[in-house]
Amino acid sequence: MKFSQLLAPLINLFRKPDPPKNWTIVEWIYDGGIEQEVHVIPNNDHIIHEIPSDHCPCGVHWERENGINLYTHHSLDGREKHE
Ligand SMILES: [Zn+2]
Repeated sequence: MKFSQLLAPLINLFRKPDPPKNWTIVEWIYDGGIEQEVHVIPNNDHIIHEIPSDHCPCGVHWERENGINLYTHHSLDGREKHE
């Protein structure tokens, strides 16, 4: 057995798998169900996205649709462009 073959499993131990670049959708209902917010947040992004989102540093996009406040966060790693 070659030396490099012995080493390979050891290297895999230290190599971290890439975190999944997926999205989380959080629904938030308050005021007894009168107000509803939906947050679309990228997982494992470079920053932690804030809820409530009004001051999230990613420059969150807000729109009101059918009485629902929809907050779409922008990922800092630019993953939107790959979808
Ligand atoms: Zn954000």
